[in-house]
Amino acid sequence: MSAKFGSSGIRGPFGELATPELALALGRAVGTMRKRVIVGRDARATGQLLENALVAGLVASGARVTRAGILPTPALAYAARDHDAGIVVTASHNPAPDNGFKLWEPNGRAFDAVERAEVERLLADAPPYSPWNDVGSETLDTRAIDAHIDRVLELVGPLPRRLRVVVDCGNGAASWEAPLLLRRLGCDVVTLNAQPDGHFPGRPSEPNEKNLTHLKQAVVATGADLGIAHDGDADRCMAVTESGRFVQGDELLVLFARRYAGSRIVCPVDVSRIVDDASGCEVVRTKVGDAYVSERIQEVDAAWGGEASGAWIFPEMSQCPDGPMAAAVLCHLVAKEGGLDKQLESLPRYPLWRDAWRFAPARMDAVMAAVQDAFSDGRQTTLDGLRVDYDEGWVLVRPSGTEPKIRATVEAVRPASLDKLKTRVVALMKNLEKSV
Ligand code: MG
Repeated sequence: MSAKFGSSGIRGPFGELATPELALALGRAVGTMRKRVIVGRDARATGQLLENALVAGLVASGARVTRAGILPTPALAYAARDHDAGIVVTASHNPAPDNGFKLWEPNGRAFDAVERAEVERLLADAPPYSPWNDVGSETLDTRAIDAHIDRVLELVGPLPRRLRVVVDCGNGAASWEAPLLLRRLGCDVVTLNAQPDGHFPGRPSEPNEKNLTHLKQAVVATGADLGIAHDGDADRCMAVTESGRFVQGDELLVLFARRYAGSRIVCPVDVSRIVDDASGCEVVRTKVGDAYVSERIQEVDAAWGGEASGAWIFPEMSQCPDGPMAAAVLCHLVAKEGGLDKQLESLPRYPLWRDAWRFAPARMDAVMAAVQDAFSDGRQTTLDGLRVDYDEGWVLVRPSGTEPKIRATVEAVRPASLDKLKTRVVALMKNLEKSV
């Protein structure tokens, strides 16, 4: 069996990529590497059957397995601290037909490249089963949600005043934990889509602006202080203001970051300059992807890190992005500092522009080299593609991870500066397109 694991595990359509055969082989591989493994899943229709195959593989390889049931990925990652590894059967925010697997270290960090390579090697080699009298065992333990809620409350404390909150669980893994947590925090909770259902009848699983129309309406209709939305496995958290406005990921990142003013935080190279100008933090940049943010937090001993997709990492909890923890922190921010509408008004607004151009994969390196030459007058960073910073703004040019395209982002403090940078990018890309 061969399969490729990325920094966020593996996911794809059930029956094509996410198969019982892959689950069984993954169980045999991880069961060979680690002896005590905790397994959980999101609410997808194919979750139980994939978990069954996964657990069969683990036990057949001699692992002692704890089944944790349906729960948020961060609750499972936190529970992994008492085991040698954690596995979640989940396709995160992907569409309903998909499923997959995420692998966690005991400290809540995703398996790194070395560990993933070992998993892939064992998948290909199919290690021998344990002898019949030396197979592992399995047990059921559904206390992980309560333990995670207790830990969040211990870290953030009760709210200084009551809030009314609408939480849209998206029929996902947060459906049980999120309302419980928010009530214990001191909120009057209104729920939306808080019944686990792998068909996602309420809305698509990704908590983006387009998918949160009902949440925006419900916040206004119930006079709530804020709205919160999670993705299918609840490692993400997005928000809606009291007037029903969706908070953009970059803005939410800065609101969280301000809590750590004076400290070091980590975010990817594609995050807006408002984080540098308005967070009061020392900002360390990294590659795009929450697993890279998590790794970098450890490397530079940062207080916090986040990605504008809605992945927020609180190292005092674990290295895993934590949607319920983020929701609790956000409620504290609103209870202490007032509504999100007002908090957003205090942020600078910079014009932003994005576009993409198609190039043959064989030409990508040459195109990127040409871009590097053309923008040699700025401060260049090659963490992920090429980011060039100027006093007035910045340009990010990077090959897409999924398509044969080069994507460009330009942000500037003034529209005129944006136009100048944008004109340079467009002219260069047109030239490079012609020189095929
Ligand atoms: Mg997710």
